[in-house]
Amino acid sequence: ATPISIMVGVGRGAQAGVLFRDAAALERFEAVDTLVVDKTGTLTEGQPAVTAVVPTDGRDEAELLRLSAGLERASEHPLAAAIVRAARDRGLTLAEPQDFRSPVGQGVLGRVEGRAVVVGGRALLAEHGVDPAPLAERADALRREGATVVFVAINGALAGLLAIADPIKASTPDALARLKARGLRVVMLTGDNAVTAQAVAQRLGLTEVEAEVSPADKAAVVARLKAEGRVVAMAGDGVNDAPALAAADVGVAMGAGADVAIESAGVTLLSGDLAGLERAAILSRATLRNIR
Ligand code: ADP
Ligand code: MG
Repeated sequence: ATPISIMVGVGRGAQAGVLFRDAAALERFEAVDTLVVDKTGTLTEGQPAVTAVVPTDGRDEAELLRLSAGLERASEHPLAAAIVRAARDRGLTLAEPQDFRSPVGQGVLGRVEGRAVVVGGRALLAEHGVDPAPLAERADALRREGATVVFVAINGALAGLLAIADPIKASTPDALARLKARGLRVVMLTGDNAVTAQAVAQRLGLTEVEAEVSPADKAAVVARLKAEGRVVAMAGDGVNDAPALAAADVGVAMGAGADVAIESAGVTLLSGDLAGLERAAILSRATLRNIR
């Protein structure tokens, strides 16, 4: 039987926007000593905006954005939303994509206006025989400013890049500082490029960062930390984070995140920011102290 005080703790959490799935999640949370956080949508706003459209020589900027956005219409990724918004803001009319595919954590591909279009990271372009090297320097300069860069190929040729910047949530620095002050070890994980990841980590004073991590690898990092004896909470918002949330001792979903993330989580933070995690930590400690 679940002690009444745990039920009360779960109820208090709910009032504060910290939704524990059940009593067990609240109990497990007390022992957490390591917090693994996804970058996009968890540390950052998850409301990224396009900050640069860079066509390769001789290409048209509007066409680059129009074809990319035509494809991204079919994706639910926050990067996709930014690209579609940028195109609409410029009054561009977007075609319906055909043969759309979205290899998780890599990008999107399909046909738009009769052309084969690929939008994504270096690896996805390489898989389609396109080398983004001519844009590598420009890409790194944008990444050092914290932007995420996606490359675009049209009909098998490099066509340009799009830079998307996602501001750090106003609440993140303080929330992380408080969690660290409680003795939590914080590890940032991201599918994003290492240069962008370092730029964001540096701004947040985070020293443990793993970048270019696939969704399956995110779960593997969580499993590795557990094998080292850590008790791990994993916070994420995306479809891509679901396996890692499920692998953690306690999965933490952001309220505004994807449904599958919420389904895989032991705790959901309605406010969608990490300040709720400190509340969860305080609550679980206070509740269990009551019982012992
Ligand atoms: P994060 O771990 O930061 O949430 P993801 O795993 O969701 O990142 O994505 C990793 C990388 O995959 C992105 O940085 C981007 O290069 C590529 N990517 C994923 N989805 C898309 C998309 N819809 N369009 C373009 N690129 C994408
Ligand atoms: Mg994410």
